[in-house]
This record gives sequence, C-alpha cells and structure tokens, in this order.
Amino acid sequence: MTSLVKPQSGLDDISTYVPGKPVEEVQRELGLADVIKLASNENPQAPAPKAVAAIQAAVAKLNFYPDGASHELRRALAAHLGVRPDQVAVGNGADGLIMETCMAYLEDGDEVIVSRSSFPVYDVYASAMRARVVKTPLRDYGLDLQAMAAAIKPRTKLIFVCNPNNPTGTLVTATEVEAFVQAVPDDVLVVFDEAYYEFVDSPDYPQSLRYVHDGRANVMVLRTYSKVYGLAGIRLGYAIADPEVFAPLHKIREPFAVNSLAQVAGVAALQDTEYLQRSVAANAAGREYLYREFGRLGLSFVRSHTNFVLLSIGSQAADVARRLLAAGVIVRPCGGYELPECLRITVGDPAQNARLIEALKAALQAKR
Ligand SMILES: *Cc1c(COP(=O)(O)O)cnc(C)c1O
Repeated sequence: MTSLVKPQSGLDDISTYVPGKPVEEVQRELGLADVIKLASNENPQAPAPKAVAAIQAAVAKLNFYPDGASHELRRALAAHLGVRPDQVAVGNGADGLIMETCMAYLEDGDEVIVSRSSFPVYDVYASAMRARVVKTPLRDYGLDLQAMAAAIKPRTKLIFVCNPNNPTGTLVTATEVEAFVQAVPDDVLVVFDEAYYEFVDSPDYPQSLRYVHDGRANVMVLRTYSKVYGLAGIRLGYAIADPEVFAPLHKIREPFAVNSLAQVAGVAALQDTEYLQRSVAANAAGREYLYREFGRLGLSFVRSHTNFVLLSIGSQAADVARRLLAAGVIVRPCGGYELPECLRITVGDPAQNARLIEALKAALQAKR
C-alpha cells in the first residue's frame, strides 16, 4: 500500500545517508570470506583495554537507566580538557550533538553555512529543520574560511567548520581561525568539528578551546570517541562550549542519549593514554606507508592530518572503488562529497594497508 502520510517538507531535499558498507554485508553479497573495511575512518585496533574492562563491569547494571546528566563522564572530560563540567555536553556520538544543535537553534528560513565537500551530517539536520544550507567552495582541497565569513547574512545562524576536514584531511590554521572568529557576529554560532583532533600534529592547528575559555558564547567545539579511541560502536561524542550555548540543547535532547556503557567507557578511555599514543603512532606510520606506495603508483593524494587519505585518481575513481570492493577492500568513493575523482581511504593496520596497495595495483591495471 502507498503511504499517504506526508513527511515534513524539510526532508524533501535530503537523501538517506549511505554509510560505509559493513564488512558482513560485502561478505554476504559477494561471497567473500576475507573483507576489510577502510571506508569509515574507524580505528583498526580493538578498543582500549581499560574501556573494554569498564564496559564489561557495567553490563550487570543494564537494568537501570543511565545517569541522564552523565556527571562522572562530564567531570572526567572537564578535568582532561581543563574546563568546567558545565562547559561540557555529551551526546550519542558527535552526530547526536550535531542533531541536537540543529534542533535547538534552527528554524524555517535560517541559514547554515558549510563548506562543499565536508561532513554531510550538517546538511541533513540543517535541512530537516528547514534551514537553508549555503555551501562555500573548497580552496585547494581545504575549507575557505574567508569565503565562509563572506557568506554570512542577517539570517545566518550556524556555521560548521570541520577541522581537519572530512573527507579531504586538510586543516585551517590558527591564524585563519582567529580572523574568522573575529569576523563572525555574536549571534551566529560557530561549531568547530574536531573529530580528528588527536591525530593532528601541526603547530598551525588552532587551540579552539581557547575561545570557550575566553568566554566567547558563540563557539562550540565537537570531539568524539569514535576515531582515535576506537569506540565507534559505543556511540559517544562530546562538545565544549559556554553553558548558555548548551541550555537550549538540554531542553530538546533525549533524556538518556548517552547509554551507561558509553559513559563508563568514556571515563576509562581517557585514562588509557598508552592506547591513545599507540593509535596515533600506528596511524602516522600507516599514513606514511600509504603516501610512499601511492607515490610509487604515481597517484596524487592530499596530505592528511587524520586517519584517512584522499586519493585523487581521475575519471576512473568509481570503477576502481568497485574493483577494490570485488577484491574485498571497502573504500569510500567521494561522488557524494562532490569529489567524483577521489577515493577516501582509511589508514588500516599494516596488513590491511599492504592488502589495499596490492588490490589497488590490480584495480588500476584492469582494463576498463
Ligand atoms: C566521524 C565523524 C563524526 C561522527 O562522530 P560520531 O561521534 O561517531 O558520531 C563527526 N564529525 C566528523 C567530521 C567525523 O568524521
């Protein structure tokens, strides 16, 4: 039967987000036993042992609701970040916080500025709130903060700055960010999405928390446990901002958005500095390996500050992605990011990276 129940009109322009294919789906569809996924920027290492132990201990208490205010976790994060607990909010992934921010701040006719070829979740929730999404062009595969500032209009309410940017892996610098923040009016909220913060090793990277410290009530910083902490499956992200910025989010958020296992895992993962260092070091080594091998294959790529690399291979990119998939290697084609000539490839463990390179060689040689 055809449904006559009309969805709200904000959804008209939204297509359903297609995440990286799960390994099991590819195994089933292609009948392949050995499939690797380098498509969702997950950590190839198992989660931090301390987090796993905390989760195991908390399982026995799942008959109780979680602490709706996530007190322990927010206290731990505040101590870790050098801010006050009331300057920290946690969510069902950074995605959950993006959704809450859009719900809390946007209404019909508001404008949201994002960059083209950036994280697609911003558009989804902004559109769902019937806001108009204004997209500025990339400059050299990076966000153009000057263009983003120039796009501010009286109806602009929110600006999402993905730094480093997914899917390009590039940074905007502290100097660029400083000029940008100065140019943004006080009634426009800037969200710095720093999902890859811990991977960045550059003196040019802005310490955006400083703006919250300095009392700017129109800056929010977003981070996540999904990437460097290896906890994508637990769904936990956090935000740092002035408590007044969070007040409207608290009104609309799910009462128990962050589950009990995520709360204890989040506290424990912060204590596992050894795991964090290991993740960062393994990623840096894997990224260097990929650069070297991509170079040998004569492929151009964008140097990355994250755990993925954007590879630019021209008009055959989608075909190459399909051939890689047939060989059991899942990567992310970037047509949906308006970069049809590119593939985004997550840095895997050494065996996965070697397998990717072998499959890539074969895929590039295959006749069209
Ligand atoms: C992965 C990612 C997120 C999502 O993080 P979750 O905490 O898993 O929801 C947010 N922003 C960017 C840029 C990402 O790449």
